[in-house]
Amino acid sequence: MSLSLDATQLDRYSRHIIMDEIGPEGQAALLSGRVLVIGAGGLGAPVIQYLAAAGVGTIGVVDDDVVERSNLQRQVIHADSDIGLPKVESAERFVERLNPDVTVETYHCRLTPDNAESIITDYDVVVDASDNFPTRYLVNDVCRLAGIPIAHGAIYKFEGQLTTLVPDGPCYRCLFPEAPEPGTVPDCATTGVLGVLPGTVGCLQATEAVKLLLDTGERLIGTMLCYDAMDLSFERVPYRQNPACPVCGDDAIDGIEAVEYTGGCQVSGD
Ligand SMILES: [Zn+2]
Repeated sequence: MSLSLDATQLDRYSRHIIMDEIGPEGQAALLSGRVLVIGAGGLGAPVIQYLAAAGVGTIGVVDDDVVERSNLQRQVIHADSDIGLPKVESAERFVERLNPDVTVETYHCRLTPDNAESIITDYDVVVDASDNFPTRYLVNDVCRLAGIPIAHGAIYKFEGQLTTLVPDGPCYRCLFPEAPEPGTVPDCATTGVLGVLPGTVGCLQATEAVKLLLDTGERLIGTMLCYDAMDLSFERVPYRQNPACPVCGDDAIDGIEAVEYTGGCQVSGD
C-alpha cells in the first residue's frame, strides 16, 4: 500500500494521523478503501457525510429516488436547492464540496437481483442504509456469497437497530429468518421518524465501516444494538448463527438465482 500522502492530506487528516490506532498507514487504507452505501436517505446521508470527511477514497451510492422537501428534516446531505434532483447526484455534489480526495460512484437505480452482484462485488465494505426487507435480504445474500462485510442499520419512529454482518459471523437471515408480510411494516412516510434519529444510527454505521477498513476495534458481530431515542438507552441483544440458515448454514445456497426477493424474500427449497 502506498503511503504517499501529500501535504494537503497530511493537514486534512492530521487528527487521524496523529493517533497510533490509525496513523498514516490507516489513513492510506481509508483513502484506498471502497465503501458502497445502499440508500442516500436518512441513514445514508450521515454515512456518506462522515465517510467522505474521513477520506474514504471511493464511495458508491445506490438510490433511485429524487430529493423531496419532506426528506430535508433528516437527510442532511440534501439541501433545499436539490429538490427534484436524483439523490445520488445531490450526494455527489455534497461530497465534491466536502472533500476532493473522494470519488463518488453513483448508481441511480434500485438494487435488484439482476444488478446487485455486479454493483456490490466491486467494494470492500457495504453499508446497508436501505428502508425495506427485500433489499436487506438481497444485500445480505450477495455480500455473504462474495465475502463482503455489511454495516447494517434500520430505524423506526424513535428507535434504531444496528449490527455488523461479517463473512464468518451470523447473517441477516440468522437474525430475521422471515420478512414480515408485505404491508405489515409501515415506512417513514406513514409512521413518521424523529429527524435526528437516522443521524445517530447512521453515524454508528459509519463508525463500523471505518473500523472495518482500518481492521481495528471490536465489531457488532452477533450483536444487535438497539437504540431508543425516547429514553436515550442502548441495549445489546446477542444472536447466533443458525445452522439451518439457507445462506450461511450447513446447506447454504451458492447463488441467488433461485431466491425470491419480493414479498416474503424466501429462499426456495430447490
Ligand atoms: Zn445466516
